Amino acid sequence: MIRSKQIKNPQLVLVVDDQEINRDVLGMILEDYYDIVYAENGKEALEKINEYREKLSVILLDLMMPVMDGFTVLEKVKNDEQLNHIPVIVLTAEKSAELRALQMGAADFITKPFDMHEVILARVSRIIELSEGRKLISAAEHDHLTMLYNKNFFFEYANRIHNYHPEWHMDAVVINIDQFHTINALNGFEFGDNVLRILGNEIRSFLAETEGIASRFEADRFDIYCIQQPDYQVVLDRFQNKLNELSETANIRLRMGVKPWNEDVEPVVLFDCARTACNKVRGDNMTHLMIYDEDMRMREMLGQRLMNDLHQAVDEHQFTVYYQPKYNIQVDPPRLTSAEALIRWKHPELGMISPADFIPLFEGNGQIRIVDNFVWAEAAHQIAEWKEKYDITIPVSVNLSRVDVFDPSLEDRLRHLIVDNSLDFKDMKLEVTESAYTENGEQLISLISHLREIGFEIEMDDFGSGYSSLNMLSSMPIDILKMDMKFIRNIEHSETDFRLVKLVLDIARYLDVPVIAEGVENENQLKMLKDAGCDIVQGFYFSRPVPPDIFEKYIVQELELRKLGERQ
Ligand code: C2E
Ligand code: MG
Ligand code: MG
Repeated sequence: MIRSKQIKNPQLVLVVDDQEINRDVLGMILEDYYDIVYAENGKEALEKINEYREKLSVILLDLMMPVMDGFTVLEKVKNDEQLNHIPVIVLTAEKSAELRALQMGAADFITKPFDMHEVILARVSRIIELSEGRKLISAAEHDHLTMLYNKNFFFEYANRIHNYHPEWHMDAVVINIDQFHTINALNGFEFGDNVLRILGNEIRSFLAETEGIASRFEADRFDIYCIQQPDYQVVLDRFQNKLNELSETANIRLRMGVKPWNEDVEPVVLFDCARTACNKVRGDNMTHLMIYDEDMRMREMLGQRLMNDLHQAVDEHQFTVYYQPKYNIQVDPPRLTSAEALIRWKHPELGMISPADFIPLFEGNGQIRIVDNFVWAEAAHQIAEWKEKYDITIPVSVNLSRVDVFDPSLEDRLRHLIVDNSLDFKDMKLEVTESAYTENGEQLISLISHLREIGFEIEMDDFGSGYSSLNMLSSMPIDILKMDMKFIRNIEHSETDFRLVKLVLDIARYLDVPVIAEGVENENQLKMLKDAGCDIVQGFYFSRPVPPDIFEKYIVQELELRKLGERQ
């Protein structure tokens, strides 16, 4: 279609030729349809190109000219990021020059002397249409902030590379910015956008040196599909250093997951694995690079299997609840105070599976409710049974998972259990891991405050693993602090660790709550904790988590000690 100049805003064409006659002829052919500017040599052409760079639809460029020839102009235009979107049609009488110009990035050529006017007009209009279509596509293909591909086009191109170049060894690399929302919140969105832009730029300059494509997949996630690199730590450091230049204080940390090339694996799957690897970096301060390996693959397969098997496991009673006693160690001999309910999965084929392996999985897909409902019901029932059988109340704490916070029916579910089993709210304590507090602060605090008002007691689990500040702690509704096991592990051998334990005890004193030390395995640890003023201990030293019938032996011991106490 040839456009008519009658329409508003006609397109602008630059005609560059040193011969006046040629300029006149081209002007005559085009003037009814386009606005035209002219230049007589390469130097003048460049000035005009820069002046009209936003408006120019096409350049008709003579190759042989004084001052600066057309090849030089073409080279400058094609090497300039601001200009290289403007299509160039070369005007030439020589076949060899045509070819060279096309290789240098010319869009088309018109041979001299000028022949049929319709042909010239048709060529110009076709090139303009093509280039405008290309611009539209480019806008849809790219993320406006970083000018990297958006995710749909990225995968389209990644698949093409995968299909057409099976011999290229392309790795999937996923990059994430740690706590990006916090960076935004602390420094403003403009700063956040700048971080993304700088990272995008550096990724593009990396790709200029190696074969590959990249996308800003979403918010702060970048995907790179590139030829296998010898050392990804070097690549990560390069990006990290660039961001360090931006701000020393903002503390921007990148993490990277890599899934190395595999012949039969499609890009989408490769990137799933790279993302899994990238997510594994979370919370680990030592290494920020993770390569997806066989071990991760096995874990993922196991995860899939467990998720599939959950319902059958419930139906077939493969889950049981074990109980681990907690002892008051400030009396001699130590006395049984309470217990923690811990789930166990006896899988018919895989054997005993640790909750650490399946709880996070079920938290991720919402099925944790099934597990927690089961454990809470069992525990409530068990407390009632021991009350009935031994006339003693052994409070049992159950673990809430971090996603229970979002369940509006949580309070009702718990309340029913207490009422249906004729228990007191204090008989079933609730353990909430510290990191849940730091992740969903306000929501959790309001939920927990509510549960406490009803009468539940709350234990903050794994304290010391979640980075809550002293300030936050004092506003957190808790009744008991459970010190993270990692503090205990080394207290005998590390003065620093023991000092940390004492610090936790100080914090608890400041908050006016008792401390439970978890993971106490030997007498030495026990003694150190006792001397430091720790109240309650849970750990293998006293007992591993055991089935209820074995736990009863501790109840019987406790009953004997009580009887002894009464007699004295
Ligand atoms: P947790 O709540 O911090 O539970 C304590 C874990 O420490 C238990 O692991 C227990 O067996 C282990 N432990 C206790 N004393 C010692 C010791 O002296 N040495 C060592 N090395 N370990 C000790 P377990 O049973 O494997 O549970 C792991 C985690 O899984 C629990 O950590 C808890 O976060 C979660 N979990 C367990 N049962 C449930 C449940 O019913 N619901 C939910 N949501 N999470 C649960
Ligand atoms: Mg716990
Ligand atoms: Mg714990």
